[in-house]
Amino acid sequence: LAEPDPRTKPPGRASKGANLVMGVTISHPDKALWPDAADGQPVTKLEMARYYEAVSAWMLPHLRGRPCSIIRAPDGIGGQTFFQRHLMKGASSLIDSVQVPGNDHEPYLVINRPEAIIAVAQTGGVELHPWNCLPGRYDVAGRLVFDLDPAPDVAFDAVIEAAREMRDRLEDLGLVSFCKTTGGKGLHVVTPLAGGRSALAWDRAKTFARDVCAAMAADAPDKYLITMSKKARAGRIFLDYLRNDASATAVAPLSPRARPGATVSMPLSWTQVKAGLDPKRFTVRTVPALIAKSDAWEDWCDSEKPLAKAIERLARAG
Ligand code: ATP
Ligand code: MN
Repeated sequence: LAEPDPRTKPPGRASKGANLVMGVTISHPDKALWPDAADGQPVTKLEMARYYEAVSAWMLPHLRGRPCSIIRAPDGIGGQTFFQRHLMKGASSLIDSVQVPGNDHEPYLVINRPEAIIAVAQTGGVELHPWNCLPGRYDVAGRLVFDLDPAPDVAFDAVIEAAREMRDRLEDLGLVSFCKTTGGKGLHVVTPLAGGRSALAWDRAKTFARDVCAAMAADAPDKYLITMSKKARAGRIFLDYLRNDASATAVAPLSPRARPGATVSMPLSWTQVKAGLDPKRFTVRTVPALIAKSDAWEDWCDSEKPLAKAIERLARAG
């Protein structure tokens, strides 16, 4: 065997304490969770924890105060994976839990601090899927997620067109929206909503999201549809408004995906959302440097608009 190249030496063997990430000890640091990050090299569990460390401050505001499901792949993405909604027994004390009134009695897992993300990584948590409620207000809409799901035969540039149209439609209703790759086949358009007394429960928000998608599909039925049926989808993009409900989840911005290539759900600026965008280039390996020099979603906090006003405007337009 050749001498290992010192530049690619796994950090796990570099020195004592190197398996410690934000105070959390990462067991099995050299375990390959992705066989290949599209660069011929695997992503180890320690590398994933370091990835989360690099993006934790960016991610946290989108996680805090909301139940968060996780996808665990303790043996890597080729092994068995678990979609977990509840706090696991013996979970780290860094991870919070919450009982949601009216839901089942098991406590939900909540990430309220950056170290909790690392604690989740330590359990093999490769994907984070928070609710879209306002922090601490579990039945109240905090953001809308429009999930654009192309049929396999649809070109990605058509998904980009759809995202831009969705943005324009929401803007006409007084809402500001942001776009991210999913790390998979489609795009998510995400709209922050104002909190406080103007906030609305999910039944109103879900109806609004459906109405916006239905109007878009009605104007171009050859391109878009809002029914789930896989068969009817051929050649078209499914405008999935169903992320917008109590206890429904969507993958968090900057969450890795348990998919080939170690792709990440990458927040974009609208100038990036144009023909030629290749979502596969955003990986656990490439994203820390890219997000550090990106201004994507910078205006998020100044963009929270009251949903009630948008509902009024939509009613007037209809
Ligand atoms: P793509 O662009 O490939 O469609 P996506 O994140 O939009 O990526 P999915 O992975 O199909 O699509 O997931 C759709 C939503 O359903 C996710 O946002 C996720 O929160 C939720 N979800 C995923 N897996 C499960 C599961 N096993 N059980 C319940 N909900 C899930
Ligand atoms: Mn989708």
